[in-house]
Amino acid sequence: MTRLHRSVALLPMLTSSLLAQSTPPCAQHARDCPAPPVVRPGAAALPLPAPADAVVLFDGHDLTKWVAADGGAAGWLVRDGYLEVAAGRGAIHTVQGFGDVQLHVEWAAPNPPRGTDQDRGNSGVFLMGRYEIQVLDSYGNVTYPDGQAGAVYGQYPPLVNASRPPGEWQSYDIVFHRPRFAADGSLQRPATVTVLHNGVLVQDGVTLTGPTAHQRRPPYEAHPDRLPLLLQDHEHPVRYRNIWLRELER
Ligand code: MG
Repeated sequence: MTRLHRSVALLPMLTSSLLAQSTPPCAQHARDCPAPPVVRPGAAALPLPAPADAVVLFDGHDLTKWVAADGGAAGWLVRDGYLEVAAGRGAIHTVQGFGDVQLHVEWAAPNPPRGTDQDRGNSGVFLMGRYEIQVLDSYGNVTYPDGQAGAVYGQYPPLVNASRPPGEWQSYDIVFHRPRFAADGSLQRPATVTVLHNGVLVQDGVTLTGPTAHQRRPPYEAHPDRLPLLLQDHEHPVRYRNIWLRELER
C-alpha cells in the first residue's frame, strides 16, 4: 500500500474518533452558562415496562438487588411500589456490577417542593458509582446549568430542560459506554453518554472528562470493567421506581 492509500484507509477511523469527542461548553458550575431552553415533555407513558432481556433492579417490591455503601442492607424506604431516599442513610448501590448499559430509571422530586437551587430534590444516578447523571427538581428552579436535571454533573448541561413538576414521575433513559483502559492503566477511550429525559434528548453522546465531582473535574483513573450502579443520598426524599437496564456487553 502506498503512503497515500494508507492515509486514506485510516481516514474513516480518524474522523469517527474525532467526531465522537466533545468538551464541556462552559467553565464548571458557571452560572452565566446559557440556560437550557424549557421544553414541555409529552404526556407521561410511565411506567415503561422492562424488555425481556432486561436486568430488573427495582420492581417496586424490595431492595434485594441493592446494598448500602458499607455492604450492609440498603436502608431506604420501600412503599407503594417505589423507593425513597432516607435522608442521611447514605447512597445505595447495586450488588451487581455493570459496564456498557442501556438504563431506564423513573424518579420523582419531593412534593411539596422545598428549598432552591441545588438544595431542591437533589439526588443522582451514578453510572459505575462515579459518573453522575444529575437528579434535581429543575421545574422552575434555577441553578448552574451543569448541575440541573439531566446534566452530566459538573461537565455538561442538558440540551434542554424537560422537567416535570415535583411529585410527577419522570424518566431517564441512558445509554452509557464505559471508559476503556489499557493494561498499564492508561486511558484508551473515554466514557460517553446519551440521555433522554422524559423522552426528550438532553445528552447526545457526550464524552466525559473523567469522574463527575463538585468544583473539580478529576482525571480518569483505571477501574474495573464492571462496577455497581449507585443512587445518591443528598438528604432529599427523592423517589425512584421501575429501574432496569440492558447490558450491552455480552
Ligand atoms: Mg446529585
